[in-house]
Amino acid sequence: FIHIRDLRKRYGSYTALHGIDLDIAEGEVVCVIGPSGSGKSTLIRCINLLEEFEPGSTVILDGTPVKRGRALEKVRAEVGMVFQSFNLFPHLTVLRNVMLAPMRVRGLDARQAEGRARELLARVGIEGQADKYPGKLSGGQQQRVAIARALAMEPKVMLFDEPTSALDPEMVGEVLDVMRLLARSGVTMVVVTHEMGFARQVADRVIFMDGGRVVEEGTPSQIFDAAREERTRNFLGAVL
Ligand code: ATP
Ligand code: MG
Repeated sequence: FIHIRDLRKRYGSYTALHGIDLDIAEGEVVCVIGPSGSGKSTLIRCINLLEEFEPGSTVILDGTPVKRGRALEKVRAEVGMVFQSFNLFPHLTVLRNVMLAPMRVRGLDARQAEGRARELLARVGIEGQADKYPGKLSGGQQQRVAIARALAMEPKVMLFDEPTSALDPEMVGEVLDVMRLLARSGVTMVVVTHEMGFARQVADRVIFMDGGRVVEEGTPSQIFDAAREERTRNFLGAVL
């Protein structure tokens, strides 16, 4: 479903990704873990070309090569992305934030877009906040709006880059609960996270990165209980 072959990325003379090969199946939930600077964000940002990668590398999403050109807007419309910082539009209500892209990009009329937005806000548990502005919401609520907004485009894959890292501890759980529901409903997800409990419980596969490479991958129990690589064990020893 997603095929990544020999993905290399340089920032000037610094190589952030040294040739990543990764296949992700439809409906699969992949958690990406690893130390700061290991290339986790760069990897997922390449999937929708938020970062350009080197010639010779390929990323294919549901049969469409991800590259500059006419197909790029289509690819971007099919990839939902949720960041550490929620990136909501501050001057639009919660409801309008969720309605905007389906109207602009998918051509839904306001009534259709509102219906879908209200359903999604209910799905993430904040239907009561629809008419507020993002600044009036807690961090956990804002992040749930960001998830609803991404889902409104009916993406083929959802990418999460440390979605709970900027939240106060008491709000982490409510966002992880929403992500857990999404995972169970069959959404294809790639999640960069420091939440090892979430990765263990929800991931179909865990990928450990270090130094711009995939060092090791496996099921949660293969990685958390029986890592083969010393670098993986050292990392887990430091964070668990
Ligand atoms: P973190 O856990 O801190 O978010 P990460 O695993 O997501 O780390 P990346 O953000 O992918 O790591 O960065 C990988 C490497 O590439 C790092 O060494 C980083 O300094 C470097 N890097 C990332 N973005 C840029 C950029 N725009 N320009 C130059 N170097 C960059
Ligand atoms: Mg990162």
